[in-house]
Amino acid sequence: MARYTGPVCRLCRRAGMKLFLKGERCFTPKCAVERRPTPPGASPSDRRRRKESEYSIQLKEKQKARNIYGILERQFHKHFVTAERQPGVTGENLLRLLEMRLDNVVYRLGFADSRRQARQLVLHGHITLNGRRTDIASAQVKSGDTVAVHASSRTNEYFKTVSETLTRKTVPRWLELDPPALSGRISDRPARQDIDINLNEALVVEYYSR
Ligand code: SF4
Repeated sequence: MARYTGPVCRLCRRAGMKLFLKGERCFTPKCAVERRPTPPGASPSDRRRRKESEYSIQLKEKQKARNIYGILERQFHKHFVTAERQPGVTGENLLRLLEMRLDNVVYRLGFADSRRQARQLVLHGHITLNGRRTDIASAQVKSGDTVAVHASSRTNEYFKTVSETLTRKTVPRWLELDPPALSGRISDRPARQDIDINLNEALVVEYYSR
């Protein structure tokens, strides 16, 4: 599956905020947004301020959402079309679809430090959905589903370390984590207040509704 392979810190600098794409490093002074809080290509002395158009603000918000979840445009737009067809508020539907992707659930359960890493775990066959190994990062989970580390992967060093840290992790309200079993259950659908990302999803909807 196609994915962005360029430098991810540039995406944060372009968005003008931390998007937390690199796990632990994002919480250290090594974070590029902390070291160089200017957009890529702009010098620190560049203080010119241009008034942003409505379109540019909407585009930026859409790119921000796409980059947070690590999805390319085509797939992101597909999620939007699905969200639009669902009853309810399109922006919230979109966020819910993004949250209920298998790679995001693996990240939210604490099996990976970032969504990027979670996607790798799924693609490499370390994750099962309802007991069956799946390598589709975009697979949608539902209430009642179980996501777990495959039995054959539990003994590898990476997951041994993960299992030691899982007891200290807090998971969102809509997930139930079972640290010793390296598994989690989707107990509910996430509501907007359960999704702790700094995003104005209404602007994303406006962008696609132009
Ligand atoms: Fe973004 Fe993390 Fe890089 Fe900081 S370290 S710029 S938050 S990806």
